[in-house]
Amino acid sequence: MKDVKRILITGGAGFIGSHLCEKLLGDGHEILCVDNCFTGTKMHIRHLLHHPRFEFIRHDITFPLYVEVDEIYNLACPASPIHYQFEPVQTTKTSVHGAINMLGLAKRVRAKIFQASTSEVYGDPELHPQPETYWGNVNPIGPRSCYDEGKRCAETLFFDYHRKHRLKIKVARIFNTYGPRMHPNDGRVVSNFVVQALKGEPLTVYGDGGQTRSFCYIEDLVEGIVRFMNSDSELTGPLNLGNPVENSILQLAEAVISLTGSSSQINYQSLPVDDPRQRKPDISLAVSKLDWEPKVALEQGLIRTIEYFRANLSNHTE
Ligand code: NAD
Ligand code: UDP
Ligand code: UDP
Repeated sequence: MKDVKRILITGGAGFIGSHLCEKLLGDGHEILCVDNCFTGTKMHIRHLLHHPRFEFIRHDITFPLYVEVDEIYNLACPASPIHYQFEPVQTTKTSVHGAINMLGLAKRVRAKIFQASTSEVYGDPELHPQPETYWGNVNPIGPRSCYDEGKRCAETLFFDYHRKHRLKIKVARIFNTYGPRMHPNDGRVVSNFVVQALKGEPLTVYGDGGQTRSFCYIEDLVEGIVRFMNSDSELTGPLNLGNPVENSILQLAEAVISLTGSSSQINYQSLPVDDPRQRKPDISLAVSKLDWEPKVALEQGLIRTIEYFRANLSNHTE
């Protein structure tokens, strides 16, 4: 077989990680999935566990890991505010100590390494849409800081290993992504609204719902991640990956109510501290360098996500 790589995916039992495991396994590679199952679950990868090219290790990346691999995708980190604020120090440790360990591993085996960074590095942005050159507007001491500053420090580490040890790095800033296998109770807006609508409960819109986000369907994101990893080595990032179509949270609530056919009403609640007012990626770099742009429209992606939650909420498997 040609060009079969041994690929480590940290956070591989999570929402994005499990889809990435499937994609790279499907491309013929050997996958080593490492996860401590803090927010992810073996249920997400149960259909892969007996595959001869798939291996799962339960491990916390804040501790050293010695394995032999060709490529590393570093996705391990709780991603929703409820989860990352539950153990804020562990969140920072996962981003920072975890990155140091994965970079040390990449340095030892000379592996190319991808970092799942985030649009949160832009904080509450004063520039709209956000290009990669924007340095961000981040509160260093607020409740979101363990995540935002942890991810910013991880980016620093990636670029220092690149400069100092000539490591091949790929740093992607991922914007809000949604789809099947989102955690039903992690408080993120798409999963919250879909679950609430399916249960006939009121949809909890924080603030007046005028704040915006740009939602990328999981399949589009995974395609962008893999294209980026396989691009020219000079393309280190940071590189925005997300869907530039911007929607207000109220528009999202109305779309979910309509697509589920739910009789749910909207219940306005207070806006969380430091909640960004608007967010939309400038993806011109990804479009020009990777010939990539999202293809799945919000309505199509929501229909598939609603199908997933309808099936999984009723049999309680997730
Ligand atoms: P997720 O919570 O579903 O996945 C994260 C995975 O990492 C989980 O399986 C969790 O158990 C694992 N993990 C957490 N701490 C760990 C540790 N110390 N050691 C080993 N495993 C650990 O979240 P997700 O949405 O799939 O996010 C994946 C990555 O993408 C994260 O790094 C996140 O910051 C980034 N990201 C996600 C989004 C999004 O919209 N989903 C946006 C921007 C960035
Ligand atoms: N490390 C690891 N696996 C490896 C190599 C290193 O987990 O295969 C960890 C190791 O524990 C170290 C970290 O990565 O703390 C950084 O390694 P590096 O070689 O860059 O730094 P040093 O060991 O010199 O501090
Ligand atoms: N949000 C909301 N209702 C919810 C959950 C979230 O109105 O039940 C809002 C939240 O205040 C934010 C947006 O939806 O403005 C996106 O929230 P999420 O936590 O999904 O992502 P992030 O804020 O990290 O972009």
